[in-house]
Amino acid sequence: MAFDHLRTELAQKASQSLLRKRTAFVAGAGRYLVSDEKRFLNFASNDYLGLAEHPKVIAAWKHGADKFGVGSGGSYLITGYAKAHQSLEEKLAHYTGQQKAILFSSGFAANSAVLHALLSKHDLLVQDKLNHASLIDSGLDSAAKMVRFKHNDVDSLNQQLSRDASNKLVVTEGVFSMDGDQAPINDIAGTCNKHDAWLMVDDAHAFGVTGKGKGSLASVLPMAIRIYMATFGKALGVSGAFVAGSDELVEYLLQYGRHYIYTTAMPPAQACAIEAALSLAFDEEAWRRDELNRLISQFRFKAQAENIPLMDSKTAIQPVLLGSVKRTLEIGERLKRRGFWVGTIRPPTVPEGAARLRITLSASHKPEDIDKLVAALAEELNDVGV
Ligand SMILES: *Cc1c(COP(=O)(O)O)cnc(C)c1O
Repeated sequence: MAFDHLRTELAQKASQSLLRKRTAFVAGAGRYLVSDEKRFLNFASNDYLGLAEHPKVIAAWKHGADKFGVGSGGSYLITGYAKAHQSLEEKLAHYTGQQKAILFSSGFAANSAVLHALLSKHDLLVQDKLNHASLIDSGLDSAAKMVRFKHNDVDSLNQQLSRDASNKLVVTEGVFSMDGDQAPINDIAGTCNKHDAWLMVDDAHAFGVTGKGKGSLASVLPMAIRIYMATFGKALGVSGAFVAGSDELVEYLLQYGRHYIYTTAMPPAQACAIEAALSLAFDEEAWRRDELNRLISQFRFKAQAENIPLMDSKTAIQPVLLGSVKRTLEIGERLKRRGFWVGTIRPPTVPEGAARLRITLSASHKPEDIDKLVAALAEELNDVGV
């Protein structure tokens, strides 16, 4: 029978405790998650600055819907491009210090568009081993030869770049989504320069948060990152993404980016909400970043005192590496029963044997939330054997 493997593969996943399930929440992108039965302290969202439920962002979305309607009505190159998109693009170019920016409906689409549009047969694409699935998959689908370098390892990158190719593109994340560590952007940029390679940075988890909001751009000269990509679904609390760079790069994506051309433009009201979130993150409420950093320090200090196995992360992503899938799920379940929601991350999102709790902190947390989480976590880690 055709497609028999669907059933077999699902059964196999289930038998390995790797079947994923969703929970439909009734509310909560901020401090709390609320399901039908229970309220949880939310330590699993990417809303690092607590903007997803911010009244000013919500008001901007509503105001935008009143003005532009709920949908864009078309693709960007036909009728879907509104003043709201244009204004947001200009703000993004300003905040990133790049010549131009272009919007995408998602980070997945932005990454796919860039790699598909820019790379051809005799090109070389070099990616950090831990890059996001959207980068790896689009790279494999592209016409270029794709190789990976060891995570955050500049020597390994240097070696991979010594191959011959017409054009070389290096892609790294700024802050890695499952480990929370940061790429050595300055060294990577230097290595790219040496090999006449372009550097693309996916700053999904850094933009708005690290480097006073400028993410990886804060550690290099503007031209060092030729292609800067970040999303609006993480620290900005909304959804969507952008690519920033030279006039030429953006014009090229506009003409050749299939994920830009053949899709409905994001609702203008959403662009209004994103612009409001940008102003809050960069100007009006920059204190949110300081608050987040205080909470990160508090979490690490308290967790270390309890001998909780932290990873080397200074960011809002604080994984607790446990290794075993079963133990990760068991501890995740127990924490849920106690009212804490943390991410339980298993292969294939992370390598075999590297299952972990993914704890994310947000400016919307209170210091007492952190203390309660650490105490509960320490107890459950002691209680649930290896
Ligand atoms: C979330 C994420 C993406 C995808 O962005 P979406 O807007 O959610 O599609 C891409 N890259 C990284 C590193 C991410 O964390």
